[in-house]
Amino acid sequence: MIVGSMAIDSVRTPLGEVDEKVGGAAVYSSVAATFFSPVRLVGVIGDDFPPDYLQLLESRGVDLQGVQHAQGKTFRWKGYYDYDLNQAHSLSTELNVFETFSPDLPADYRNSKYVMLANIDPTLQLQVLEQARHPRLTLCDTMNYWISSKKDELLEVFRRVKVVIINDGEARQLCETFSLVTAADQIRALGPETVIIKKGEHGAICFHGDSVFVAPPFPLRRIVDPTGAGDTFAGGFIGYLSRSGDLSEPSIRRAVIYGSVLASFNIEDFGIDRMRNLTLPEIHARYRELRDVSFFEEMDESTF
Ligand code: AMP
Repeated sequence: MIVGSMAIDSVRTPLGEVDEKVGGAAVYSSVAATFFSPVRLVGVIGDDFPPDYLQLLESRGVDLQGVQHAQGKTFRWKGYYDYDLNQAHSLSTELNVFETFSPDLPADYRNSKYVMLANIDPTLQLQVLEQARHPRLTLCDTMNYWISSKKDELLEVFRRVKVVIINDGEARQLCETFSLVTAADQIRALGPETVIIKKGEHGAICFHGDSVFVAPPFPLRRIVDPTGAGDTFAGGFIGYLSRSGDLSEPSIRRAVIYGSVLASFNIEDFGIDRMRNLTLPEIHARYRELRDVSFFEEMDESTF
């Protein structure tokens, strides 16, 4: 089950721009997760949300019972990226139908075992968490907008989930430190067993138990639009875990790599366009390539 924003985005990057394209954290995450697992989606849309995208989600195995149709305009985000693609600059955030949204989970959603709280108002994330009965894995993602405007509520969400996924700049902002290791320690001290810090084009670091896993980035030639990379990463991560049912450390490492691989495809085009024709063999081929490019030999002490 995934709750999060369903949006209409207008995005400019050095390579082009799109106006009013379907996006949103829950849309990106759901599409990514569907490569591994069916998805129950919780969110809200206004009367201007393009119906063909709902059909597309449904055709990929996304259950839309939890999506409310409200009168008014869908959530809108406008932003741009310069050549530092790790830094999204928000130009405007219009909450629109989110302002009055209150999630009410359909009965069968309440038993979902894998629950992802994608980027959305942390108050709504808490409401979803309260309605979920005995989930096996709970995961939360967020962004600077909520760290600045609803920090207390966000920390409460962090106290209640097993996995926190956050990007490097946001972790530093939240924990007021330059060290990502210190930031991860601080977040784990609140309760989560696992903290994953996304570093955009530089990969991700996963802190789980006593282990630290540094996931490499995929060396990409074609980068068009980084919007949704983080959400795609998180959706792929939880989708894989839900499919494997294995929450051991090696499986979590695999999930981090699947998340990275999916995110690397997503940024090759605007919106979810690249994901529409992506296939499982392509995902697996890139998984292997990522393993190859980050392999290095054991130390050769006889050299010294
Ligand atoms: P990402 O690039 O993975 O960090 O996420 C990009 C998506 O986040 C876009 O599709 C936006 O619609 C969505 N978004 C932007 N601001 C917010 C916000 N304040 N709350 C929820 N979603 C947002």
